[in-house]
Amino acid sequence: MTATVAAEALDESEFVALKDEVAAYVRAEGERWAELIEAERRVPLELWDELRDRGYLRLAAPRSYGGRGIPFSRYLELLELFSMSHASLRMIVHVCNGIWRPMDSHASEEQRERFVKPQVRGEIKVAFTLTEPTAGTGADLRASVVREGDAYLLSGEKHLITFGTIADYLLCFARLKGTRGAEGTVALMVPPLGPGITAEVMPETMGVRGTDHGHLIFDRAPVPVENRLGEEGQGLEIALSGFLAPSRIAVGMTCVGLARRALELAVDYAKRRETFGRKIAERQAIAFRLAEMATDVQAARSLVMEAARMWESSGGANAESAMAKLFASEMLQRVTDGALQVHGGIGYWSSSPIERVYRDARAQRFEEGTAEIQKTTIARQMLR
Ligand SMILES: Cc1cc2nc3c(=O)[nH]c(=O)nc-3n(C[C@H](O)[C@H](O)[C@H](O)COP(=O)(O)OP(=O)(O)OC[C@H]3O[C@@H](n4cnc5c(N)ncnc54)[C@H](O)[C@@H]3O)c2cc1C
Repeated sequence: MTATVAAEALDESEFVALKDEVAAYVRAEGERWAELIEAERRVPLELWDELRDRGYLRLAAPRSYGGRGIPFSRYLELLELFSMSHASLRMIVHVCNGIWRPMDSHASEEQRERFVKPQVRGEIKVAFTLTEPTAGTGADLRASVVREGDAYLLSGEKHLITFGTIADYLLCFARLKGTRGAEGTVALMVPPLGPGITAEVMPETMGVRGTDHGHLIFDRAPVPVENRLGEEGQGLEIALSGFLAPSRIAVGMTCVGLARRALELAVDYAKRRETFGRKIAERQAIAFRLAEMATDVQAARSLVMEAARMWESSGGANAESAMAKLFASEMLQRVTDGALQVHGGIGYWSSSPIERVYRDARAQRFEEGTAEIQKTTIARQMLR
């Protein structure tokens, strides 16, 4: 699936109405879900149902697949709003609106009907299953398969997998036993409840509370060969190329959204809090800090949108998407830190909304690759 296939005509007035609707949803229902998730430390399946029924999980997919056909760069405007909400809510929106891309890129027509369209319609949940506890993420992967008749027998371990214990399918990357590098890698749609699979919920995370992350152990787990997307040898291509650029750009926009929320909280607090007879917003030290934070957010937004437009027009943007993700995730760290500082000590307490935002923000520095990996991508392109 290229960027151009997903770009469909958009009715501007309908889009503006949808944007208003999402902004209102995030402030009302989104905040109620956030309170419930933090209190109960779980994400109720009713939230998934609500997001699906409102059409929020199929925003970016083509209409021919059951999606709403919103062009990628416009979808990002909505993702920015969702990302102002609880990180578990934005995680559902982000993953569901993106995971159809790698599946679709190498799916046969039959697999498109079986996996891609049901995922877009919200009938099945799919977890992107790449990271391993004993290997680097990518050409180093160690999970392996051997073929026996019409099945692959999958062995190995995966961890940190978002939705890993509630998914209907794991989009799992492994290699033919004995191969190295990208050679021999495969992408498999693995039903997680079969024999030879142990799935454990990982311990609670610092932020993104309530979202389940799975640790999966495979011991000669049979997976039908007909569940392999693409050919043998194309596994990493499915995981990384084509999908990675829009996904990095989208994570960049989730950073912009959460930073916007942090800034909003900081501005609001600075206007209310009085010390030594004046509101702290009237102190230049605080006002300048807020101005720097706002500039940082806007710079990241611009970089993300430029990478998005480049990807839409060319299908490329490898280095630009890495730059957008790198800058935006580090910007988010600066802005949430600044916002917490503006709150003073009370911001450190869970009774202050900035406390959750600060914890949630740390996750984005890992999602879709760390800063070190983004820099490696950018440098490789510059120096080749
Ligand atoms: C909230 C959350 C959700 C996640 N969801 C998923 C998911 O759904 N599916 C999934 O597959 N993964 C998921 N991950 C995992 C995430 O993609 C990885 O954590 C990330 O890619 C880093 O890999 P790692 O944890 O193995 O770190 P490591 O590779 O062990 O890296 C450790 C440190 O070394 C640095 N490093 C590693 N290799 C190099 C190198 N070659 N050069 C320089 N520095 C290097 C890294 O930048 C990092 O600082 C999730 C992570 C988080 C935090």
